[in-house]
Amino acid sequence: MATRPLVMVEEPTPAPAPDEVLVRVRACGVCRTDLHVTEGDLPVRRPRVVPGHEVVGEVVAIGGEVTSLALGDRVGVAWLRRTCGQCHYCRRGAENLCPRSQYTGWTHDGGYAEYATVPAQFAYRLPEGYTDEQVAPLLCAGIIGYRALQRTSLPPGGRLGIYGFGGSAHLAAQVALAQGATVHVMTRASKARELALALGVASAGAADAPPPEPLDAAILFAPVGWLVPVALQALDRGGVLAIAGIHLSDVPSLVYERHLFYEREVRSVTSNTREDGRSLLAFAAQHRLDVHTQPYPFDRADEALADLAADRVTGAAVLQP
Ligand SMILES: [Zn+2]
Ligand SMILES: [Zn+2]
Repeated sequence: MATRPLVMVEEPTPAPAPDEVLVRVRACGVCRTDLHVTEGDLPVRRPRVVPGHEVVGEVVAIGGEVTSLALGDRVGVAWLRRTCGQCHYCRRGAENLCPRSQYTGWTHDGGYAEYATVPAQFAYRLPEGYTDEQVAPLLCAGIIGYRALQRTSLPPGGRLGIYGFGGSAHLAAQVALAQGATVHVMTRASKARELALALGVASAGAADAPPPEPLDAAILFAPVGWLVPVALQALDRGGVLAIAGIHLSDVPSLVYERHLFYEREVRSVTSNTREDGRSLLAFAAQHRLDVHTQPYPFDRADEALADLAADRVTGAAVLQP
């Protein structure tokens, strides 16, 4: 971000394909993946791509084949843009693993713009009771945190550790708490620890501090590989560590006895299915999630990303046109 890689440009308004709708953007969340796209941690899939995949907007044009959405509908656009629907992953309900999948704000232009297109079958209906700014972070931070929590197989009433406490973690923590878990947070930013305690977690300590009790499960949100052995060592026998991010720095070597024996497991989290998205949004409709946002005007998107990189965002940054 030091080289200011984002530039504001004028481009024609995109036209929706026959199975797509055009959305006028009303808010777009800023996700750590945008940082990985912008800084080049992820390979370039579309040169000069418009980032942004937590898009809330209004349908303003409709492709000829679309029957499921109407003009004026409020919709969400998320990371997973399209899958093939035919490969064996898609057919068994694991469309998050589709090798031919496309992504908003990586393979196709996203929501750091006034307009964006989305295939109608991949747009989400949004829960009532949340403003555009509040609902935007649910579309990736919320969904990925939710999937990561499922991936831990946390037992009912279990003890969950959360490493890193940004936009995704502060939502996943609330889902876990609502489901009766005891949550311990380990993170380096003191403001994030304060937010965690305010949301009702049992403890909040330094990033590499041992939690006050052994964990049945943990989620690693920080993109920091050296925390993998730290988190594994904090697990109780049979515990599961889920790694939520799309990018992780290298994991140091593990010591089998200390980190993996007693049936401790490491699981990655790759994107999400539409079913995950619908489940999280339905959960948010039933349980009021306290979404902490930090708003930025569109022309300060690079500042939002720089603040995210430097841990200066508490909760989730959201761009507003
Ligand atoms: Zn597929
Ligand atoms: Zn994201």
